[in-house]
This record gives sequence, structure tokens and C-alpha cells, in this order.
Amino acid sequence: MQGLMMDVPLLISNLIRHAARYHGDTEIVTRTVEGPIHRYTWADAYARVQQLANALQGLGVKPGDRLATLAWNTHRHLELYYGISGVGAVLHTINPRLFPEQIRYIVNHADDQWVFVDLTFVPMLEKLAAEFPKVKGYVVLTDDAHMPETTLPNARSYESLIADQPAEFDWPQFDEKTASSLCYTSGTTGNPKGVLYTHRSTVLHCYCVCSPDALGICSRDSLLPVVPMFHVNAWGCAYSTAMAGAKLVLPGPKLDGASLYELFESEGVTITLGVPTVWLGLLAYMAEQGNRFSTLQRLVVGGSAAPLSMIVALEEDYGVDVIHAWGMTEMSPIGTTGVLKGKMLRLPKEDRYKLKLKQGRVVYGVELKIVDDAGNRLPHDGTAQGELLVRGPWITAGYFEDDAATKAAFDSEGWFRTGDICTIDADGFVQITDRAKDIIKSGGEWISSIDLENAAVGHPGVAEAAVIGVHHPKWQERPLLIVKPRKAGGVDKAEMLQFLEQRVAKWWLPDDIVFVDELPHTATGKLLKSKLREDFGRHRLPGA
Ligand code: AMP
Repeated sequence: MQGLMMDVPLLISNLIRHAARYHGDTEIVTRTVEGPIHRYTWADAYARVQQLANALQGLGVKPGDRLATLAWNTHRHLELYYGISGVGAVLHTINPRLFPEQIRYIVNHADDQWVFVDLTFVPMLEKLAAEFPKVKGYVVLTDDAHMPETTLPNARSYESLIADQPAEFDWPQFDEKTASSLCYTSGTTGNPKGVLYTHRSTVLHCYCVCSPDALGICSRDSLLPVVPMFHVNAWGCAYSTAMAGAKLVLPGPKLDGASLYELFESEGVTITLGVPTVWLGLLAYMAEQGNRFSTLQRLVVGGSAAPLSMIVALEEDYGVDVIHAWGMTEMSPIGTTGVLKGKMLRLPKEDRYKLKLKQGRVVYGVELKIVDDAGNRLPHDGTAQGELLVRGPWITAGYFEDDAATKAAFDSEGWFRTGDICTIDADGFVQITDRAKDIIKSGGEWISSIDLENAAVGHPGVAEAAVIGVHHPKWQERPLLIVKPRKAGGVDKAEMLQFLEQRVAKWWLPDDIVFVDELPHTATGKLLKSKLREDFGRHRLPGA
């Protein structure tokens, strides 16, 4: 028997309409690419989103067309989020930090019709535009006064595009499974792969993100996403702030400690989200200045493992509740969030930190399983380690027009292979030990590069650390630690080894340590292990 409830589609246009109606005076504040702070409200944003929707129709945009953005976190990018998906087209956010060859591949593979680009990225795009035969034109996210001389064909300013359009638009109602946005994930090998979200997956993910045991976003919050809107829809922030009616603070291109701190304080930010590298920068700035936060309550960290030293500093020195989260582009992205349960609040401090160091516990809506090499399920006992597979309504069912990648990504039961190795405990807390391809296999036993890196960055002289496996004649692989010191010569090998001896099992100790000025990162801020393996894979270990 069918139930008797309305079949109202979950559409992205409804999110901003709700925010404009009932949180119309709540602010959206942007540090613009041009420099000044821009300030308006959800009601103002909605009026301009409707102008944009009319302008898109004027450009001849059809449902399903892909429209690309290369842009920072700004109010104009936010308007594109709602305007493009709202008319039934697909918002394709491109990570401008990708290599030019990857951007060329992505624009052509997605068959993008129009490209919306921030001033910062115009020169880069000018070099590539000749290779985008299908792109009909470019919209520079600025006004006519700041419009640069450009060789981009058919280019105009965003403000001139929307200026004379009516601020009313009748949003089309369509199937909630319609594609809403597209984000390519770039592994370290092969071509980037497109993850195509739906209106339904986006809205369901949004409900999850707002729930108290996930990120608990509510109308009292002032939220600053440091995580870029070109990286998995800023972990859903552009949508969840509208659902909750929260204030949104968009940092534009300035993501250094001083610029972020200024916005945290001036805009009463209560919750912020970003990758560990950003927080390391912020903490260094805070320590240098002797500053405190006056409103910041929660800080969400994910994308890479948050080191214990960072979690402890934020909680103890600055009184901020750290929420360690894990997810993937393929998962919209949230899979686990580290909000402690009631019984855990009474645990001794060390035990609470052990839990906070884990990547969080599973949210409702995502199912997890771990399997051994033969695909057998392993227990969720906090000890058994295996490859993590996931399932759920905001998890990809296949890559956009890429059959080979899709085929490799799912097991016979249709679960998505994350490529991460982890343990899961009885409370649903996940601890990621490694990417499957990064784990170090020493004499048949596994050494977690994440745990070793974590221990190494606990040393006050270490700015950043990476661990890779290097060939060893007896053990197959042994760990090599690569350290970026805070100050050149500030820490030496003997001291580092002594420090690690107290923190990891003896057989985990790296066989050698090298010091470097910089460590390579991917376009989303993760350590680029493939490059490190290229550079140091043949490193001769002492005694090997
Ligand atoms: P992306 O799709 O770029 O967001 O990358 C997803 C991958 O980032 C995951 O499969 C993990 O390997 C890694 N990752 C994300 N969050 C964390 C975390 N909190 N700790 C460790 N690795 C993480």
C-alpha cells in the first residue's frame, strides 16, 4: 500500500527561497576579489539569483547544460550555485589549482557551455581558451569598472550580465534526481573523474550536515567556509547555511591566518571549516600574535588527517571544539563527523583526544563496511583494519561519462570503494590509517603513514611531515620520513628519532629522515605522495 504524503521534489531553488523568506535580513559577507568587503542579505542574494536565472535563459542555457565556474568563495559564486542549478542546468565547479592539462581535460570532458571566472584566473584561462572549442563565452565575476582587457572570446562582466534583469523568476519544478552540480576529483594518476550530484542528494546531505551530531549548523551560526566552493561544494556550506538561515562569511582569495582571523572577529564567526594546512597557518599566526578568538566555537577539519597536536592546541589554548570529519568528493562529501556522544564527555581527557583524533563517527544516511583483501567483511571492533566501502543516498553511483572508472569503483554488491584503509569501532568511529596505496607494508605488517606523520608534526620544530614506503631488501618496504622544519636546521635526525621513539612502536620508526624546504600538495591541499615517491622512492636507506 502506498502512503498518502505529498510528492514534493527536493530542489535546490527551495533552499534559497526559504532563506530569503524567513532569514531575509541575515547577512552574507564577502571579502571580494577586488578587495573591499561586500555585505548583503539572503533576501538581496535571492533577488540577484533570480536576475541571474533570467540572464541565463537569455543566454540560451538549457536544462542539463554544464556551466563552469573557476572562482573563490564569494557572493557571486554563491549566486551561481543557486541560479545555475535552479534553472535545471549543472553547476560545474572547477578547481583552479589543478594543472592546466587537467583543466583542459575537464572543461572539454564536461562539455561546458559557458565559463564564469574570477579576475584572478583570467590570465590562466586566456592561455587555455583556444582549446575550448565548445565554450560559447566567458563571464568575468566583476563589474564593468574592474573588467580587464582580455583575449577571452565573447567575454563580459557578471554585473553587466544580470544588471537589467527582473528580480523575479518562476523556478521550474522537475524531478529531484535531476543533475545539479558536477565536481571532478583528481586522483594522483589518470584523468580527473566527474562526480555528478543531484538536487535530491544535495538536499538530503544538507539535512544531515545541519543535524546536531554532524555539524549542527543553525540560524544562530555565523559560518566561514575556508574550504573552497570548488572543492565538493564547500562541503555543502553554501546549501546548509541557506537551509538553516545562518550568516555566511565568504573569505574570497585571502586564506592566510591574519585575513581569516580578521573576519572571524569582525563577523562574529561561530563555526569554520577547512583542511589541516589552513589551520596550521592560522595557529602559527595566533601564536605569533598572542591572539584569542572571541566568538569561534566549532572548527571542522577534514580532507586530510588532523594531527593530535593541532586538535589539542585548538581545544586547550583557544577553547574551540574541534570536529574531525571524513568524506570524499564522491560522498558530497560527509561520511563521518567527530561529535562525541554523551557517555564520552565523561572520559578522561586522554581518551577523549584519542576519539577526536579518529575521523569521526558515521552519520545517519551513510553505511560503512570494511573488507579484507578477499572482500570478506571485517568486524567493527576498533581493531580490524580493512578497505572501507560506503553506500547511501548522497554517494556517487558512477562517474560522469567514464565507464572504466565506474567499473573499478564498485564491488559486486554495489558499494563504493573509498580506497581508504581504516578501523571502525562499535560506536561507528572510523580511524583512517591510510590510503590503500600509501600504506607501508613492512615484512607483511602494516605501518600507517598517517600515524607516523601525526606523531612527527607533534614535534614543535616540525612544520609538516610526510611518510612514504621505500624499498628494503629484507622487509620489502620501510618508512622514510620527510620533514619540513619550521626553521631551517631547527631540528635534526637524532632528536626526531628520539621524539618518535616515545610515540610509536619501535618497528614503526622511520629508517631514515630527510629535511626539505617544501612538501608537494595536491590541488585540494593533500600531501602529494606520488611526487614524493618519484623524488624519494629510490632513496637509499642506511643499512639496506
Ligand atoms: P577528496 O575527494 O579530495 O575530498 O578526497 C577524499 C579523500 O581524502 C578520502 O578518501 C581520504 O583519503 C582523505 N580524507 C578526507 N578526510 C580525511 C580525514 N579527516 N583524515 C584522513 N584522510 C581524509
